[in-house]
Amino acid sequence: MLALFDLDNTLIDRRAALETWARVFVRSRGLPQDAVSTICGQLRARAYPEDFARLGRVLGLGEAPGDLWQEYVDGIAQSSRCFPGVPEGLEALRAEGWTLGVATNGARDIQRAKLHAAGLAPLFHGIGISEETGSRKPAGGHFEAAAELCGAKLSAGGWMVGDGPETDMEGGRAAGLRTAWVAHGRRWNDGLPAPDLVVQGAAEAIKRMRRSV
Ligand SMILES: [Mg+2]
Repeated sequence: MLALFDLDNTLIDRRAALETWARVFVRSRGLPQDAVSTICGQLRARAYPEDFARLGRVLGLGEAPGDLWQEYVDGIAQSSRCFPGVPEGLEALRAEGWTLGVATNGARDIQRAKLHAAGLAPLFHGIGISEETGSRKPAGGHFEAAAELCGAKLSAGGWMVGDGPETDMEGGRAAGLRTAWVAHGRRWNDGLPAPDLVVQGAAEAIKRMRRSV
């Protein structure tokens, strides 16, 4: 059985990593404390190299955007941690013969750096990153490409696990997958068709998916 996983705030705690990095960065440049929330606000949804030109301007830094981006990639990778129970759960799925993939929107270098730093990369059969696949969730092409990288086909069914109601759940459902929504305490209220499972974390999703087969 195929299981695709979103990366940010599903397998790894991106929010915490971003806050940690922003605090360290602000201290290193002697910026005022409220720059932490400016940085987190600018980069909360997504971060690409081009975002660092804007951020540098907003913060009044005269540094090359490419250097800021590299500092961000290295710093975020260093602070990236999996949510509890994730590696053990993925190992158990693999041992039971599941095919595991990542389906994530983002830039190649940062997404790969996070997966490696958190020790997750070797647990997946395929890693689908939008910058590499050329399509972003919720587009069906992204899920297709991620499955293909795992040597699997969406037509055989499977699961999509993620925290994004539209990108992960609606996209996964439209691609023919069963869906597990990582709620992190939120309620499902987006007026979208309900996911198959609502869980508080990826480890719980894994436990319940294992019981479902
Ligand atoms: Mg996410």
